[in-house]
Amino acid sequence: MPLFAQELQSGPYNERMLTPTEKIWCNGKFIAWDDAKIHVLSHVVSYGSAVFEGIRCYSTQNGPQVFRIREHYRRLLDSAKIYRMDKVDFTVDAMCDATLELIRVNQLDACYVRPILLRGYSDVGVLGINNPLDLYIACWEWGKYLGEEALAQGVDVCISSWNRIAPNTLPALSKAAANYMNSQLIRMEAHFNGYVEGIALDTNGYVSEGSGENIFVIRDNKIVTPPLGNSALPGITRDSAIKIAKRLGYELTESMIPREMLYIADEVFFTGTAAEVTPIRSIDRITIGRGARGPVTEKIQKAFFDVINGVAPDTEGWLTPVAAPVRA
Ligand code: PMP
Repeated sequence: MPLFAQELQSGPYNERMLTPTEKIWCNGKFIAWDDAKIHVLSHVVSYGSAVFEGIRCYSTQNGPQVFRIREHYRRLLDSAKIYRMDKVDFTVDAMCDATLELIRVNQLDACYVRPILLRGYSDVGVLGINNPLDLYIACWEWGKYLGEEALAQGVDVCISSWNRIAPNTLPALSKAAANYMNSQLIRMEAHFNGYVEGIALDTNGYVSEGSGENIFVIRDNKIVTPPLGNSALPGITRDSAIKIAKRLGYELTESMIPREMLYIADEVFFTGTAAEVTPIRSIDRITIGRGARGPVTEKIQKAFFDVINGVAPDTEGWLTPVAAPVRA
């Protein structure tokens, strides 16, 4: 049965039902969920001047644990620095501590964490450097969303007619809100054409990434993923998959991938905080490999899930328990 968008009842690709929690963290304080509001003339509203993160906290047999929290906050500060948002009052350690405390305060187990750093309300000019920088961290319950079916069988996707943001226009290494206008075009086109997701090419026609996922291609047991220079976000899950693949002994290179390489691949999969490790079984209705999750994808997926489920030892220190502060 084809797994086109309208048939997927749940998944990281569908709109998420958001259940409010009690508190949101704002600039060092806990505030009520409903009080986390900004003025319509805040700089971010007109100009998209926010950087953000998406982090997952998993329910494990050792209690809730956050996946690669430090790497996410490091990327947040990197994203901010690119946009000269350099007066951030909080260190990586402070933001990690705030996040763990927020999850405890809201008494959540498996959840999604959304830190947002935005240029707030004062001047209305584009420059924005005198506007306050406001940091919010919200979290809400989020269990497993991608059903076993999609994880095992893969999803049907298309190549987008929209290119990914070009170098020297919007910087792809910054996870900036404005970039997601491009992501929306890619996602909406895919959705309305009946696909689960769209793969964007960069402005030179090489494979870049999905609207919210990095991509890996496998042929003859060799794994390739586009380098960051192909307008791809430095995904934390991408990095995890690279490390897992190398640990499993696969040859992996970061090199430019022409579009047609996707069609003749043995396996293709997406990685991302939402997508985790999701196999792709068709692209533009061309069957990839056997048209189901391939063996290499399965091995990487299993190794990934074993870590986040607390089944395999966390040798890389990817999980941070919510119960204890980050620093001893
Ligand atoms: N690319 C884009 C455009 C994304 O939005 C995301 C999700 N953050 C990713 C890739 C995957 O990154 P990560 O593994 O850090 O979630």
